[in-house]
Amino acid sequence: MFSKIPNIQEFNFVNQSSTLKPTTSTTMKKKLLLLPLLTLSIGTTSLAQETPGNNTLNSEMTHRTCGTEVPGAEWDAWFNEQVELYKQSPNKVQQDFVIPVIIHLVHGGQAVGTFPNISYAQLNSQIAVLNADYGGTGFNVANVPAAFSSLVSNTNVKFCMALKDPQGATLAEPGVERINYSTKGWANPTAATTSTAFTTYMNGTVKPATIWDPTRYMNIWVCDRNSATQLLGYATFPAGSTLSGMSGTGTATTDGFWSWAKSFGNTGTLDPTYNKGRTATHEIGHWLGLRHVWGDANCATDYCNDTPPAQTSNFGCPTFPYNSGTCSGNTTGEMTMNFMDYTDDPCMYMFTPDQRTRIQTAMTNGTYRKLLGTHGLCTVVGIESTNFTESEISIFPVPSQGTVSVKTELASACDLQFTLVNSLGQQVFQRNEKNMQNNTLQLNLSTYEKGFYFLKINAGNKTTVKKIMLD
Ligand SMILES: [Zn+2]
Repeated sequence: MFSKIPNIQEFNFVNQSSTLKPTTSTTMKKKLLLLPLLTLSIGTTSLAQETPGNNTLNSEMTHRTCGTEVPGAEWDAWFNEQVELYKQSPNKVQQDFVIPVIIHLVHGGQAVGTFPNISYAQLNSQIAVLNADYGGTGFNVANVPAAFSSLVSNTNVKFCMALKDPQGATLAEPGVERINYSTKGWANPTAATTSTAFTTYMNGTVKPATIWDPTRYMNIWVCDRNSATQLLGYATFPAGSTLSGMSGTGTATTDGFWSWAKSFGNTGTLDPTYNKGRTATHEIGHWLGLRHVWGDANCATDYCNDTPPAQTSNFGCPTFPYNSGTCSGNTTGEMTMNFMDYTDDPCMYMFTPDQRTRIQTAMTNGTYRKLLGTHGLCTVVGIESTNFTESEISIFPVPSQGTVSVKTELASACDLQFTLVNSLGQQVFQRNEKNMQNNTLQLNLSTYEKGFYFLKINAGNKTTVKKIMLD
């Protein structure tokens, strides 16, 4: 007989001296009524000057544009406050975040591989680009000028194609859902001839009908669009505040990023100027809380001290040093190779440490960011399973009201060390449990501040990190 007898243990840490600082409100507010249908600023206000690059030949685009709505001052104030809280932590969380991606590919009934129903190879190529770009190892990063070489940053964010749909079924094509607009009764996306009409169509029709739970998946929509829109992509900024007046942020029905199919990935049917996957890198930068490096006004701030002030957006492929001294305080030239400028795909290749801080802040505070990677939807190395598999050690429920269960199903008994770390990277407690195999541990965390925590579980050279959300 080898029937497993669950061994329920409980540990309660109410006497543990808490070093927790007050955490921000984590109330999940669904701003269903704030759909930005009429407030889209398509980024043209600050584009008074145009400096065409030399790579635009044969491109359908005059130059890069970005349809992401510039967030309001209220969002800036709220997010910047979260950034400061994150920066005050002396021991920040160093774990990678792994974001499960679902790509909703909207097509018109073409065979798979025929534009706009682009191939899996093209869709999947975008994931590798994102992991390189967000890891500081992307295409052309070796071209970074010496003045900025110490600033190339690994953001510690990774991406993976989701393996399962919301019902738990394995996806035939990991991370991809193909949707025929005509069988849905929708117009062809190319029927919209202005950027506003297009984003209204996406936000009002396609996204609400197709979005998967944005607390579990990063939603990406890919389709063709009318060249008159001059759109490459647009994204939503991270929501997370219950304060009023926020604009530019995603909702339960709109959160995510849309890309033109000809600027998605780096292999397949691509526009010759936007063929390195940097539309997604740029737009997901917004999705992770980054502003344009020129601050969307002349010599304005992007709230990052390590990106030099820039007069306006730059196009094409400027030669460094470029516009040195044009803005007060700029002694190096502008960082036109930053992903948050408007340069051509081959000519943008870096994020900075301050941008990394904003990205990490978004991942720890965003309503639709902070639980990403906790649902066993990825298999890549990272936060979900660096060694123990999801079936070996699982944690539930997520989110929790106070009691968190840790279930182990191990092939052989081993001694485990549990370390709970708060969202600022501070250790809350550490505890050893001997002879663990088929057990369920119950952690009573009801006396702790609401928010999210990391539970690190170690056994010799095997380890895993689980995210815990106290709601
Ligand atoms: Zn942008």
